[in-house]
Amino acid sequence: MSDFTRNRQKSREEIFKKIVLESLPRKLFFILTTICNINCVMCWQEKGHLLPYRAFDTLRMLFPYLDMVEWQGGEVLLVDYFKDIFTEISRYPQVTQRIHTNGMALDRDWIELIVSTGSQVNLSVDALEKSTYENIRKGASFDLLIKNLQMIAARSKDRGKKTHVSVNTVIMKRNYRTFESLPQFCKEYGISEVRFDFLKSKPEAGEGFLSCPSEEKGIPVSYAFFKEEDVVVHGNAAEKAYLKEQIAVLEERFRELGIDFECTFRSLLADTILKKEEKTLRKPCVEPDLLKCYSPWERLFIDFYGDVRPDCMCTLPVGNILNDEIGAIWNSTGMQEYRRRILEGRFSGWCTDVCVEGVVERCKFDSA
Ligand code: SF4
Ligand code: SF4
Repeated sequence: MSDFTRNRQKSREEIFKKIVLESLPRKLFFILTTICNINCVMCWQEKGHLLPYRAFDTLRMLFPYLDMVEWQGGEVLLVDYFKDIFTEISRYPQVTQRIHTNGMALDRDWIELIVSTGSQVNLSVDALEKSTYENIRKGASFDLLIKNLQMIAARSKDRGKKTHVSVNTVIMKRNYRTFESLPQFCKEYGISEVRFDFLKSKPEAGEGFLSCPSEEKGIPVSYAFFKEEDVVVHGNAAEKAYLKEQIAVLEERFRELGIDFECTFRSLLADTILKKEEKTLRKPCVEPDLLKCYSPWERLFIDFYGDVRPDCMCTLPVGNILNDEIGAIWNSTGMQEYRRRILEGRFSGWCTDVCVEGVVERCKFDSA
């Protein structure tokens, strides 16, 4: 039995049973950088951060045990060492790698590498009309996006294997009425998964990893833009009604075409705006015994500071990959506490509100 299979078996035995694990993590998610080649209107990332390459000195020992690695930025394709580390991991045939990208730095070589290694691409596509797309994604080219989608489809066809391409879309006032033809667009370019997300302002304390505690890690954000453009929480009744109806129509069409569709803000559309005080009184829509989050047993999320958490939704870091050994992080007191609280249903005040309230992708609670 291979080390990979043995670890996967052990991991499955330990999930929801043990606090200190013998098995090693099976999934890694990186935010490698905040460097980017475009300037989206809704972006509040402070640009210029990069995870040093030496982070992989300690992470490398995990490669034989992994089944999934996801890479995100900023724009991850701009990281000078990224192709080397991606190629190194692709030598482990059991690992699937997924690149989250705006698609502007994709070129023939990258597409060849992605297709030939059976890797996945998640593209940010915030509109299907050139003018709206380029108005939101300042500096990006809709024509280049289409050219790259065509190249992925053509190279996949040549190689006789489908490449998993997914699309991520941030819904806001300037684009929410433009997605009627999205199912057809996906069919044309071989896109098999679509995720609708909502506009988010700078996270506050208790809302995930970007709400870093120290001032120097603070991220500037235009609240004026957020309030003006957000249609999900701040939209009026007519806008919300349109959105709800459109999502139902799209969902049906995606289902007919065999395309996975996820919308992260359904429950927000049903709600009135909640003030901070009301939020704390609100009954979680996920019952404690149903908040079965696998992340602390399977995953590590590593950001550009080297801070490590079970998932990007988790507020408190459990170690830093630039300072701590991976084994010590994996069974650190913080990791143990995440596991313990999930097991005991005491996640409130520890786990992020959006997880507890169920405004989160269901895939976070599915083990692969
Ligand atoms: S692609 Fe857009 S949202 Fe993402 S980091 Fe770059 S500017 Fe920000
Ligand atoms: S439920 Fe808790 S442990 Fe799981 S992703 Fe959310 S915050 Fe992290």
